[in-house]
Amino acid sequence: MPDVWRDLSSAGFVSGHGYAKALRTVKTCVGKEWCRFGTQDSTGLGIQLERLTWGSWMPHKFKIAVSGCPRNCAEATVKDLGVVCVDSGYELHVGGNAGIKVRVTDFLCKVATEEEVIEYTTAFIQLYREEAHYLDRTAPWIERVGLTYVQRRLIEDPMGRVELAARFTHSQKFSQTDPWAERASGKEQHEFAPVLELS
Ligand code: SF4
Repeated sequence: MPDVWRDLSSAGFVSGHGYAKALRTVKTCVGKEWCRFGTQDSTGLGIQLERLTWGSWMPHKFKIAVSGCPRNCAEATVKDLGVVCVDSGYELHVGGNAGIKVRVTDFLCKVATEEEVIEYTTAFIQLYREEAHYLDRTAPWIERVGLTYVQRRLIEDPMGRVELAARFTHSQKFSQTDPWAERASGKEQHEFAPVLELS
């Protein structure tokens, strides 16, 4: 595995959070560049979101998807945060889960620009990181605190939303390291030391 991680890392891929309680790979559809139904650049937005949020440790795994139109090929409405692009902007959905117990997202709000998508996404992640219990996915967390509470924090309190997003951005400066790349590079005392060395 370290050889695989080394190859991936040297090709620019981050693999160390594939099993972590952190952001998983952002899923997108092909978007307006390649699909006649596309309304926005879902692929480019997904890449932006992933670059900003990978390595962000969470109470549990966290999935994001961006669909280029309401046909929703990226299945954004069963993700922890889903973006559904429409002609006039971006619908933001939260609290979905496609596991054993499927939960469709709640509609949070609609925004007009990619910058707003990024601000609301990072603020939502930070609120979840600060207030959910360890091992809470967003679905049970939102069911416990209520969608109106999340809307109050993110929509009715713009200054609070900006501050949440700023705290997230600040913390990312210290967390975007790929632990498996460190392991592959031979770093000692990396995070994933073997429990037992077999001879
Ligand atoms: S979600 Fe819409 S834009 Fe994206 S691939 Fe499907 S039909 Fe095309």
